[in-house]
Amino acid sequence: MDNEYYIKQMEKYADEKGVPIMEKDGIVFLSEFVKLNKIKNILEIGTAIGYSAINMALADEDVNVTTIERDKTRYIEAVKNVKKLKLDDRITLILADALDFNTSEMYDLIFIDAAKSQYMKFFTKFSKNLKPRGYIVTDNIKFHGLVSSDKTKMSKNLRQLVSKLERYIVFLKDNKEYKTRFFDIGDGVAISRRKKNEQEENTYEN
Ligand code: SAH
Ligand code: MG
Repeated sequence: MDNEYYIKQMEKYADEKGVPIMEKDGIVFLSEFVKLNKIKNILEIGTAIGYSAINMALADEDVNVTTIERDKTRYIEAVKNVKKLKLDDRITLILADALDFNTSEMYDLIFIDAAKSQYMKFFTKFSKNLKPRGYIVTDNIKFHGLVSSDKTKMSKNLRQLVSKLERYIVFLKDNKEYKTRFFDIGDGVAISRRKKNEQEENTYEN
């Protein structure tokens, strides 16, 4: 069986079990980004069944991914999928709550795709593991169109979650250390890059 077959199988599994893997255009965009920017070491928060980790690893042979998942069933599924694609030597799977997981490794890219209510905590906690000119990518920044929409009809829980995401977006926009670009791709992707210095405005061109 080839890679494409296993990837389709994962998409089907996610669809049937309601696992929120990245949308197709989002994962294509992220894989391209990894390839174009010669990203080598990635830390992913939120493995689910390994779909995005596998796609990023397949972007280039030099890519290594460490990925954290707190749900045991999903973690086990991810282990199986990584084995099927023979990527065990390049993808390290960790069963843990990311907020309890500590590492001194340094990464070129940190991909945040876990509990939306904790985005700011993940960003702050793992920024110490980001190489000087590294990127922090955040998925689901639009939250299915709920961000910046009318909150009056939402349940209290949902309203609080959407407000948290909106505060996270403001946190990214106001962040003096990072320059963030927002992309209307998939469910909304933000790419934050650590600036060379605080005066720098356009970080991507140089
Ligand atoms: N990146 C995956 C999708 C991840 S879905 C892909 O695109 O293929 C989000 C996952 O994050 C869920 O499986 C959830 O269990 C996990 N998660 C949420 N909060 C977490 C935390 N604090 N630590 C580790 N995993 C977490
Ligand atoms: Mg996501």
